[in-house]
Amino acid sequence: MTAPSSDLPPLAQRLEKIAPSQTLAMAAVAQRLKAEGIDVVSLAAGEPDFATPAHIQEALIAAMRAGKNGYTPTNGIPQLIDAIIGKFKADNGLAYGRDQVIVGAGAKNILYTLFQALVDPGDEVVICAPYWVSYKPQIQLNEGRVVSINTREADGFVLNPSILEKTLGKKTKAIVLNSPSNPTGAGYTKADLEAVADIALRHNLWIISDEIYEKIVFDGFEHISIASLAPEVAARTIVVNGMSKSYAMTGWRLGYAAGDARVVKAMSKAHSQNVSNAPSIVQWAGVAALTGDQGCVKEMVAAFQQRKDYVVKRLNAMEGVECVSPKGAFYAFPRVARHFEKKYGDTVIKGSVDLATYLLEEARVSLVPGAAFGVDECIRMSFACGMDQLKEGLDRIETALARLVPTEHYENFQVHQEQKRF
Ligand SMILES: *Cc1c(COP(=O)(O)O)cnc(C)c1O
Repeated sequence: MTAPSSDLPPLAQRLEKIAPSQTLAMAAVAQRLKAEGIDVVSLAAGEPDFATPAHIQEALIAAMRAGKNGYTPTNGIPQLIDAIIGKFKADNGLAYGRDQVIVGAGAKNILYTLFQALVDPGDEVVICAPYWVSYKPQIQLNEGRVVSINTREADGFVLNPSILEKTLGKKTKAIVLNSPSNPTGAGYTKADLEAVADIALRHNLWIISDEIYEKIVFDGFEHISIASLAPEVAARTIVVNGMSKSYAMTGWRLGYAAGDARVVKAMSKAHSQNVSNAPSIVQWAGVAALTGDQGCVKEMVAAFQQRKDYVVKRLNAMEGVECVSPKGAFYAFPRVARHFEKKYGDTVIKGSVDLATYLLEEARVSLVPGAAFGVDECIRMSFACGMDQLKEGLDRIETALARLVPTEHYENFQVHQEQKRF
């Protein structure tokens, strides 16, 4: 017997202001349409389209068969902690002790735990828009205040340090960096990082550096961890990384962080009352991923590079579309606002959500509206799919955009749009 829900006690208010992840939502809609037999080209996915490399799969099976099925230490098995320490030394020139590393069920879980450890009610955390979808709700769920700074296409979507400096207040406690970035593909150079580090040092801020796309870089871009700039920068930086993107292991849920031992200890306390530990057998697979042959990563990156070149060329050739070439990750983030205040039938496209809806319903291509990342003028297109799918998707988008007709307000709207261009 089920009681009518109005008879039940109310839910907590905590989640009422929090939006569910729009990237996951768009991917779910595309999947539902596909399941109904509708031929949708999904360019919304935030995950690699490759299979997890075979040697990593084998390591998981071997761990399971060897009976590694119990709880593990909260911070992770020593073998994985050591593999992570080895990775930081080899890739980033960073030296961490065992008490400075913690493993979690994905970088998302790690970031949430990190905000729990750092943010008191009312503390401000700076994020850079366009931002990854989960930073804001995670900070809000931990009662922090989000301070979002817009980055500009002209700067390659890299944070302008003088704007950062002006935005900081007494309550600012941390800044979140994400290079290479989801959704823009922005990549911070050494000079860009030095400018941020200098401000963080002078204003006594924590730096949260989400480096989950460090291995997926294009055109010779060199990823640098901000923590590697100087010991005093490393001391205030918590580097967040994970297996999902580099090793095509999104569903496996394995991420990690390294930084100040006190922060790690606080995170461990939160973890111990929450996830307990990342899945045991997945941790063994993680050891294989980090210590095994890295050729699999090179192969995936080569495929992403080819697709990136193709997508950026196609997008920039489209009328009313401009796309900055990403330095890393697997997304293009083109400006599409020249198609706003256009219509199809009686429906006027007012912003990125309308445009994404139009492209899904009329062109059968799923994308994520820029609004989900805090920037309505753009749209996110993932290139984590095969070249044939990409070509088909881009053909459909091009045709659908060309069918849109300007409304009588188009010119005025566009003049206004140009004035507020970031
Ligand atoms: C995918 C992603 C994450 C989270 O990855 P997990 O699967 O939770 O390890 C974190 N940050 C960014 C920018 C991402 O794109």
